Amino acid sequence: MHEIPSTGTGMNRRSFLGACGGCALAAAGAQLFFPGVFRGTADAMEIRKGFIGARLSPYFTALSGGRVRCELCPRRCETEKGERGYCRVRENRDGKYYSLVFGNPCAVHVDPVEKKPFFHVLPSTASFSIATAGCNFDCKFCQNWEISQASPEDTLNYDFSPEQVVEKALEYRCASIASTYVEPTIFIEYMIEIGKLARPKHILNVMHSNGYINPGPLDDLCDHLDAACIDLKGITEQYYGDMTEGTLAPVLATLKHLRRRSVHTEIVNLVIPGKNDDPERIKELSRWVLGELGPEVPVHFSRFYPLYKLKSLEPTPVTTLERAWSAARDVGLKFVYIGNLPGHPAENTLCPSCGRVVIERVGYSIKKISMNDGKCAGCGRRIPGIWKVA
Ligand code: SF4
Repeated sequence: MHEIPSTGTGMNRRSFLGACGGCALAAAGAQLFFPGVFRGTADAMEIRKGFIGARLSPYFTALSGGRVRCELCPRRCETEKGERGYCRVRENRDGKYYSLVFGNPCAVHVDPVEKKPFFHVLPSTASFSIATAGCNFDCKFCQNWEISQASPEDTLNYDFSPEQVVEKALEYRCASIASTYVEPTIFIEYMIEIGKLARPKHILNVMHSNGYINPGPLDDLCDHLDAACIDLKGITEQYYGDMTEGTLAPVLATLKHLRRRSVHTEIVNLVIPGKNDDPERIKELSRWVLGELGPEVPVHFSRFYPLYKLKSLEPTPVTTLERAWSAARDVGLKFVYIGNLPGHPAENTLCPSCGRVVIERVGYSIKKISMNDGKCAGCGRRIPGIWKVA
């Protein structure tokens, strides 16, 4: 069994358990996003309740009688004129299908890239983070349900073109633009346009997604996407059915697709007590990652805090997360992390060859990097990730 090495910060097991008790509220609070907290000159930008744009979607099939079928995600919603799909942000207007959130984010923040969480992408840089209303899942543990389960007319929205997003990302010295907080593929057209404009400015286009998207649109997105953090919420269809209203198979297909397209990918598994914390399932998930994606894909086991429809549960015990960490390492994964538990030594990146702490973290802060040109400073072993922008 793999032992979790010490932090090098002097924090012992007792002190990080203590820190953990204090971080529960902080971590939960940090996940709640409200419109209008975008600071700096952007505060001067107008935000309006219910402001809605419209952009013709390339991802639909016209059916008879003015009906359309959306081809963006596996739900394949079929709608009559005037109706919207499950995600609330796509609408049938006279037999054509429109995105209602192109250029209309309701959440705009400058975050550390570690908060996405990307641990192998330009550490210690800022990520310009956006979200619109809407989502194609309804997870019982959603951290941002106020916006993910809202329609765009119910949120305060910016009128924020892709050009302005890139401009502001440059102004705020962000190394990446992250589409996050809700399911971003529901605003795929916006993400793609942002990606096209960001690359010439040497800004990465990244997302944190549930991976619930059809292969065609995903392939289009991959042309303009540098990195993806994908929630692999569990490893059984039953869990997805019970907890998300979605299905597992398309998420696994997305992960394999991202690998084929060489998009840097990290995986997040939110470990919920009594729901998906069975050690056998954790091993199964880890074996799937190992077998289909390889040992180098970073996997984050993230601590659950009671939220939304699961308020009656307790936060994930630290020992459960540590067991998951050990199990994944025993299976053969090389880069395994514990998330939402600031100060835990399993936030650090270890060199798989010599065991040196190559990136030392506490929460979203980077304390030390011991790497040269993407390689361990001790033994020269390559560490997978994006360590500089081309
Ligand atoms: S993206 Fe939205 S409208 Fe399209 S199929 Fe998925 S849930 Fe339905």
